[in-house]
Parts: sequence; structure tokens; C-alpha cells
Amino acid sequence: MPSPSVKFVAGNWKMNGLSPQLAEVSALIEALRAADGGPRVALFPPATLIHAAAALSAGSAVELGCQDVHSQPSGAHTGDLSAEMLFDAGARLALVGHSERRTDHGETDEVVRAKTEAALRAGLEPVICLGETLAEREAGQTLAVVARQLAGSLPDSLAGRAFCVAYEPVWAIGTGLTPTLAQVEEVHAALRAGLDSRFPTNTAAILYGGSVKPSNAAELMAARGVDGALVGGASLTCADFLPIVRAA
Ligand code: PEP
Repeated sequence: MPSPSVKFVAGNWKMNGLSPQLAEVSALIEALRAADGGPRVALFPPATLIHAAAALSAGSAVELGCQDVHSQPSGAHTGDLSAEMLFDAGARLALVGHSERRTDHGETDEVVRAKTEAALRAGLEPVICLGETLAEREAGQTLAVVARQLAGSLPDSLAGRAFCVAYEPVWAIGTGLTPTLAQVEEVHAALRAGLDSRFPTNTAAILYGGSVKPSNAAELMAARGVDGALVGGASLTCADFLPIVRAA
């Protein structure tokens, strides 16, 4: 299974951003307007901003995604949003299985698989997140954990469809800590091998995520097997995110 030919830099705003923050979307669009041949770029704002951000980004180089989807298309699920609703609001990609969802909402691999199916059903490109905890890494279980998550979180229906995987060590998210390049390359190679055997004809990016900043983005994205980055905190302002995009 080949890597995409261009890198992919995605920004996850998490539960951050009120309407004035849309100025950061506009600034990024403007900064990338003249860019030729750069990486693929996407932002995942909170659901409340997707519709307005989609209006701003129409026809631009910035794609839009959502941070979660419900597995059902509609129904009695107060407070939840279906993949179809998020597509309708303007999302074209969906994060699924982010570690904050797995931890805060008890999402299992089975739930993540159902959400991935829902994203595909609605026409959203899923970005499936996985990664080990610090305890799992220290116990030497990293490769076993990500292999289990890859097997459990990715439905067979991804065959022939556009999707990405984001390797995000839980202990590196929002902590300022990052794995060594050798550790990143080891996991990415294992994930690529796992994807190769299950989805030999797909092209899927494997992103690295966890404390990517302007200062470390270039070396992390140049690591063997890294097809781009999923960026949290440093995606909230154009001033921080743009240098990461340019480092790809
Ligand atoms: C994330 O939210 O996916 C993430 C990687 O966060 P941060 O870059 O802040 O560590």
C-alpha cells in the first residue's frame, strides 16, 4: 500500500474556538492562497464552527473536518451529531478514535470501527487515531497495542476508500514530550506493514501526532514512514500552524 505523494498536515482544535477564532482560518487560507505544490492541509474545528469555516474555506486549499461522529445516521441521541449532519455542515473529513475520545468517553476499538463506518457512509474521509499509553510503552507493548487498535478500529469496508491513520502516542499529546525519531519510525513501519496486508490497493497517509510544534515539525515529518502530522495545540493560530505546514 503506497504512501500519498504529498504530505498531509491536519490541525485539531479540540474544544477550542469561538467565532472570533475564524480569523485564524481566514489567515491560513490567505497565507496558502499563493502556495504552489505544498502539502495537503485540513483543519478540524469544533462542530459549532464547521459551517462558518466551510463558507470561508470553499474553493481554498484548506479542507475541513469534524472531530467525532455518532455511529447512527439519526435518532434519539441527545447532544450527538451524526456523520451526515457534519457532512451537511461542511465537513469532508472526520477524526475518529482520538485518544481523548477513547479516554473521556470510553470509546473502544469496536466503537471506533462503527464510527469509521459511519464516516464512510456519509462520505467523510476518516482519520483513525491510535497510539499507546506511557504504561504500555514502558511495558514494551507499543507494537502489540497499535496492531490491536489497527485490527479493531479499521473496518474491512475501508478497502478502496480514502482514509488516513494517525499515530498519536497518548503520552505525547499536549505534554511537550515526543518519541525519538527511531521510535516514530518503528511504529510507522509496523502500521504500514499492517495496512499493506489488509488494504494492499489503498493509498493512505500515516500521520504522526503528539506535541508537534514549529520547532520539531520538520524532523518529525522527515522521519521514515511519516506522511504528515496531526497537530493539536499548535494548530490554533495561523502563526504557529503555518510554519508547520511549511515544514512539510
Ligand atoms: C492532538 O490533539 O491530536 C494532538 C496531537 O495534540 P497536541 O499537538 O497538542 O499534542
